[in-house]
Amino acid sequence: MIYRAQVLESRPLTPSAHMIRVEKAPGFDYLPVQFCGLELATSAGSEEYPMSLASSPTQEFLEFGARLSDSPWKKAFAALRPGDEVEIDGAYGHFVLDKGRDALFVAGGIGITPLKGMAEYLADTRSPRRAVLVYSNRSQEEIAYRKELQGLEQTDPHFTVLHTLSREPGSSAWRGRRGRIDAALLQDAASRLIDPTYYLCGRGAMVMEVGQLLLRLGIPRERIAFEVFRGYS
Ligand SMILES: Cc1cc2nc3c(=O)[nH]c(=O)nc-3n(C[C@H](O)[C@H](O)[C@H](O)COP(=O)(O)OP(=O)(O)OC[C@H]3O[C@@H](n4cnc5c(N)ncnc54)[C@H](O)[C@@H]3O)c2cc1C
Repeated sequence: MIYRAQVLESRPLTPSAHMIRVEKAPGFDYLPVQFCGLELATSAGSEEYPMSLASSPTQEFLEFGARLSDSPWKKAFAALRPGDEVEIDGAYGHFVLDKGRDALFVAGGIGITPLKGMAEYLADTRSPRRAVLVYSNRSQEEIAYRKELQGLEQTDPHFTVLHTLSREPGSSAWRGRRGRIDAALLQDAASRLIDPTYYLCGRGAMVMEVGQLLLRLGIPRERIAFEVFRGYS
């Protein structure tokens, strides 16, 4: 389905990421959580980027979150204001929740988008399945959807977030985990779940690294789903 949608909300998520909410057309449906083509009017003409939906299909709107850069599309995305129009083409993709199993989500940076939507879906449908999100960022200020994820942890007793920060200054007040995602963190997360499906999302290098760690830990290949955000170095 292709349709033009009005922007309902537009705001920064972190110093380097931005989110928009747009109208969901009647009859537009998607699996938790597919991606869309999001076409914007940019300084280089109309351009369409693949963007994961960052919201659950149980919600009345669509949400997208993007890491910013100097590309024309990203500049146009950050400049969107309520009332502006965008074109939605979707939904597509196979990176979707297996509703019958526990879920171990692993996100790097803006790779949180589809996993946030999946966690919202589990909460909204009162799923009895457990989910743990391992979320890696450089620093505290780069944690996207921090409040929303905290809210989900409070409303959904089956959902837990394990943050880790790779470049948080040693002098900061952060008392949580530090360092990259490693085998110990993945094993800690998995120990809270029963035979989960693993969902990896982020830059190619991060997805590859975590995928290899999981295979070395003996996780069967068919239990590992991933979405790579191409276009990031
Ligand atoms: C299934 C899927 C879902 C995604 N979901 C998200 C998401 O939720 N959030 C997010 O931030 N990113 C997402 N991405 C990545 C996104 O589409 C961009 O590739 C990425 O954000 C880099 O864009 P950029 O303009 O900042 O890159 P730059 O490296 O600055 O781009 C340089 C130039 O390359 C071109 N370019 C780069 N990427 C694309 C592209 N995908 N299509 C067309 N031209 C391109 C543009 O002309 C741009 O000017 C997703 C990608 C895929 C495949």
